[in-house]
Amino acid sequence: MEERKGKRIIMFPLPFPGHFNPMIQLAGIFHHRGFSVTILHTSFNLPDPSLHPHFTFRTIPHNKEGEEEEDPLSKSKTSSMDLVALIRLLKQSYAEPFRQSLAAEVGGEETVCCLVSDAIWGKNTEVAAEEIGVGRMVLRTGGAASFCAFAAFPLLKDKGYLPIQDSRLEELVTELPPLKIKDLPVIETNEPEELYGIVNDMVEGAKISSGIIWNTFEDLERLSLMDCSSKLQVPFFHIGPFHKHNDDLPPKTKSKEDYEITDWLNKQDSQSVVYASFGSLAAIEETEFLEIAWGLINSERPFLWVVRPRFVRGTEWLESLPCGFIENIGHKGKFVKWVNQLEVLAHPAVGAFWTHCGWNSTLESICEGVPMICTPCFTDQHVNARYIVDVWQVGMVLERSNMNRKEIEKVVRSVMMDKGDGLRERCLKLKERADVCLSKDGSSSKCLDELVSHVLSFDSYAFAS
Ligand code: UDP
Repeated sequence: MEERKGKRIIMFPLPFPGHFNPMIQLAGIFHHRGFSVTILHTSFNLPDPSLHPHFTFRTIPHNKEGEEEEDPLSKSKTSSMDLVALIRLLKQSYAEPFRQSLAAEVGGEETVCCLVSDAIWGKNTEVAAEEIGVGRMVLRTGGAASFCAFAAFPLLKDKGYLPIQDSRLEELVTELPPLKIKDLPVIETNEPEELYGIVNDMVEGAKISSGIIWNTFEDLERLSLMDCSSKLQVPFFHIGPFHKHNDDLPPKTKSKEDYEITDWLNKQDSQSVVYASFGSLAAIEETEFLEIAWGLINSERPFLWVVRPRFVRGTEWLESLPCGFIENIGHKGKFVKWVNQLEVLAHPAVGAFWTHCGWNSTLESICEGVPMICTPCFTDQHVNARYIVDVWQVGMVLERSNMNRKEIEKVVRSVMMDKGDGLRERCLKLKERADVCLSKDGSSSKCLDELVSHVLSFDSYAFAS
């Protein structure tokens, strides 16, 4: 590890695993390059700082004293909230407290080199950083292809692609090939204008930043990165996949459940297991849950399925499964509430990943050469699925609207048999490309060197401006 005494980077993640995880991985990359890191974290979804002992954590409060009882961000109020409404509430609730917390970070012994904020926090974070003369970079936790689609929202609205009309789902978006209208990164919401506002603020906030850090790699998204770069006109640093940097870090402590999962995987044949997980935010209906369960059983492949508590709407966990279902499965299937996904995907027993195509899951699967079954649920997941299936050709689609037990059985069987389509081979090739990009003279390593120089150049910039 390099020593870079007295240089601190402040990071402001969005408080969801799909955003927090890559921010923490990026923090690890900066730490490895000798920087000190402070994580400014919302009091909502507070992480456990003891899991990240290298970093300083500061909690940004959202309540004034005595306001707890009316807390709009309490678990009970937010658990069933529309994601768009929740993001709007987070942005509103933390704008001013963040500004104050950031201002309190400067003036100490160490130089604050820059702020790195999640792109979704938008322009407010730029204003807060400017006020104290600190440069701001943006972390985009999604891929470049989906960002191109987000950046095109005004055009998509002008041309009538948005809002999406059910009668036009299969039409190609000629301005954004290979996307069809049904692949556009929207989310079911009661407040579509609010969604456009959040997307617009993210894109405009990125345009006025001092640079964008991407968790992607050149050999995966070269064209999309070029396209985005020409539209945004700010420095780009595509240094991903983040989680494959710093392989020398000590292994994380494992829980009892982690050991049980590894033991179970160890007993399965090589590449025989379907690992199913739909990320940290998506939720499904009970009928869908039962179709998935029967489809997996009928495919006669061992499965490991992450069912988060309340993932199935209206239920706590697995209680909607028919009586005796779990007992009948025996060792052929395992339900868990959460796994260490990186470890599971790296296990030789895993043959396919049935995923909602969140960007982290997509990259993590590619980095282990595991082909995917793609069931996107919302926003960028639709774009990622189209790229997985049509561009990189490392997965098969299983549309949510067509998720019945027969179709599930068919798709699971074909991906596991691979029908000579070469999904796994192609995925392993992409994994190799990721390794090349991360190697000493690879594009991600070079970009990281440039990023470090860029961040260090902020010192003089901050005090000159
Ligand atoms: N994840 C995990 N264990 C699980 C499910 C998810 O560690 O049981 C991690 C996964 O490795 C990924 C993140 O949670 O890093 C989910 O991010 P993604 O972008 O795939 O989806 P999101 O949760 O944002 O929809």
